Amino acid sequence: MKPLMTLAAMAAALLATAGVQAADFPAKDKPVTIVVPFAAGGPTDRVARDLAEALRKPLGATVVVDNAAGAGSSIGSNKVAKAAPDGHTLLLNHIAMANMPTLVRNLPFKVETDFEYLGMINEVPMTLIGKPSLAANNYKELSAWIQQNKGKVNLGNAGVGSASHLCGLLLQNALQIDMTTVPYKGTAPAMTDLIGGQIDLLCDQTTNTTSQIEGKKVKAFAVTTSKRLSTPALKDLPTLQESGLKGFEVTIWHGLYAPKGTPAEVQAKINGALKAALKDPEFLKKQEGLGAVVVTDKRVEGAEHKKFVAAEIAKWSPIIKAAGVYVD
Ligand code: ASP
Repeated sequence: MKPLMTLAAMAAALLATAGVQAADFPAKDKPVTIVVPFAAGGPTDRVARDLAEALRKPLGATVVVDNAAGAGSSIGSNKVAKAAPDGHTLLLNHIAMANMPTLVRNLPFKVETDFEYLGMINEVPMTLIGKPSLAANNYKELSAWIQQNKGKVNLGNAGVGSASHLCGLLLQNALQIDMTTVPYKGTAPAMTDLIGGQIDLLCDQTTNTTSQIEGKKVKAFAVTTSKRLSTPALKDLPTLQESGLKGFEVTIWHGLYAPKGTPAEVQAKINGALKAALKDPEFLKKQEGLGAVVVTDKRVEGAEHKKFVAAEIAKWSPIIKAAGVYVD
């Protein structure tokens, strides 16, 4: 009898501790940190900084962004997978979450089991853009220029598994042309080099490209979605599908994650704050102006977010395997 009672007492003590953790979240004088696994100043960073602002009030905490870039988002993601599961360290990542399991051979964490899924944030189209000095002025001229410059064209990306990497792979497959890919730690530094003419092409989210296209700092050729966009600066761009690349479609999505083992009550608090942030008029206005569509369906729930990521892993895995790319 005695050992059983001791076990029961221990269980009660554990439950009480979990309850205290949840009630105490967010802890006083401790910020909630959103880890962004790409460079500052890029599209994922942009979404995170706007979201951090919108989360502050509903969460009742200071929310800061920490950029831990590199290895196609696996460095920052690993940092969160190994962090204390107390709700104070979160991860904001995009489609790389679904690509890493196939692309990175020795991934030091499991996307499917080492995180709690807190809900999706938005979906963002990509644009195919070029350096300002490029001879082509529209997609037709660009495809002719690519054919004429076979073996010389280079294409920036944000590292293995990044959205720009994926988009570049699809582009090379669709055109049946190999390009030299130049990896960066995010598309913010790639954009600087594109504007400076060090690289020729970049595929990047509209959350990063819209203002550069508006300011005529880069040349814009097409959007990666199946339909044209309504954002004023982007509405005249053709889709890659209508430009002859059959079935070409990439839409980026962002989601919020916590380390595995974060108490359910803490997850629920963050999810509630996320839902409030996604209805914040300021946040909505910013997202709309950047061509992003805020998620309003059931994928803002952790369970549906998790199902969606599993479906994306299944969708992209054969495409990545067929392209024969991986990282050790
Ligand atoms: N746009 C990058 C990508 O291609 C990520 C980033 O820099 O935010 O995935």
